[in-house]
Amino acid sequence: MKFISSDNLKPGMVLAMDLVLYNKYNFKTLLLREGLELNRSYISKICSNNISGVYIKNEEAINILKKNIISEELLVDVLTKIKDIYYNYKLKNLVFDRRMLSQALNLADYLIEETTLTNALLYRVLEYNNNEDYMFQHIINVAILSISLGDSLEISPYMLHELAMAALLHDMGLLHVPVEIMEKPDSLAGDELKIIREHPANAVKAVSSFVSNDVLMGILSHHERIDGSGYPYGLKGEQIHLFGRILAVCDVYQSLKKWTPQQAIQYLSEKKGIEFDADIAEIFLKNIIVYPEGHYVKLNNGKTAIVVKNNPDDCLRPVIQILNPDDSLGEEVNLLDIEYKNVEIADKGHNFEYIVSACLCGEKTRYDGKVFVNDKIKGLVDQGKAIMVCPELAGGLKVPRLPCEINNGRVVNITADDKTENFVDGAFKTLETAKKYEIKKAVLKEKSPSCGSKYIYDGTFTKSLIQGQGITTRLLRLNNIEVISDEDF
Ligand code: SF4
Repeated sequence: MKFISSDNLKPGMVLAMDLVLYNKYNFKTLLLREGLELNRSYISKICSNNISGVYIKNEEAINILKKNIISEELLVDVLTKIKDIYYNYKLKNLVFDRRMLSQALNLADYLIEETTLTNALLYRVLEYNNNEDYMFQHIINVAILSISLGDSLEISPYMLHELAMAALLHDMGLLHVPVEIMEKPDSLAGDELKIIREHPANAVKAVSSFVSNDVLMGILSHHERIDGSGYPYGLKGEQIHLFGRILAVCDVYQSLKKWTPQQAIQYLSEKKGIEFDADIAEIFLKNIIVYPEGHYVKLNNGKTAIVVKNNPDDCLRPVIQILNPDDSLGEEVNLLDIEYKNVEIADKGHNFEYIVSACLCGEKTRYDGKVFVNDKIKGLVDQGKAIMVCPELAGGLKVPRLPCEINNGRVVNITADDKTENFVDGAFKTLETAKKYEIKKAVLKEKSPSCGSKYIYDGTFTKSLIQGQGITTRLLRLNNIEVISDEDF
């Protein structure tokens, strides 16, 4: 039996277990029965129910054992338990009580027992299928990753338990935030931002008489950053409690769910030692499993393979076994071997049609740090049809940054610093992404000196537009990639 993601299911595969669905009240209904041979209609039924994958009887790949993966049943169970705690807290007018404490303690024990059976971290342990459950899935994922990371850091069993408690309760304060603010698609500012930033302190207030000081400090400091750029207190380095430093890495990594594994890993690598504790982030990156053993992956040469073993020195380049055209197992390949240096895992089976500007999808990539969402374009990302890019961040620029415009073929910021190199570097990295995923279309943000496709600012910083295209758009078009303006999409 092995777990196959829904987008890798093929007619003829046989279900190894009953497939059940849970409604929001956690009532179970049987969708498909064990032993059923899948056809196209059953596969589409599975996909239309947003099920991340199913267990399949698989004779061919039987020797590649599914390891380091927490069972789907356990994940459903823990999701129910965490929802119970948070819903009860909300129902009881934001008053934490002994019953919730006991539920959290039991859940922490349960997760520690299951998680420490493996010595490796997992990538996206729970798939984000359901927006309604997003917060709870996020909490469970952060808890599992934190326990694994704490275990790798060899903290004592007592402290591991306290860390798990901090992870389970870290977002409790978000229930104090009005729904209008939580669900607001636009950028938050002023008082709204202030309210969101109060969530660690509100959680601490709620549970302060029930948990240890370590748990409280972990909750309070999970948004602090070692360079002092975090909140609520702007603490630096080891002023931040160990749990806060651990939770920060796991929380951010889970929040990068819409990026590809490569992008998420790259982000953490870049921020290691700047925003995140260098040692903790290093251990996280060494232990994270991007491609779990037994999972199918697509390669950039068009072939499909099964992951056999992870390489601790490079989580993006495991040992794989190529699948022959008849689906039998073929050659085993270690992607770290020099002769395979051009072979890459394109993705875990996604089929991207577009690259899209990240700033159109609610990502904080714009020069001014503002956040916008184009629902249609973000929808493409949510459906796995598009991959987000931000050429300026890929080129090494930061958020916030001074605005740039193109002037006489150079890209300069408002203080006349030449940033052309960053823009060109970002454009080539974006082209690389497009090539890697064989993407032929891009939907990019109009007017930007990187992404504009019809107009750009004229270089005078007076908000005057002229006909023209950004640096990335130009490079993509030169490489026969169609660039569509977000205004026309
Ligand atoms: Fe990044 Fe392009 Fe958006 Fe600018 S317009 S923030 S480069 S994605």
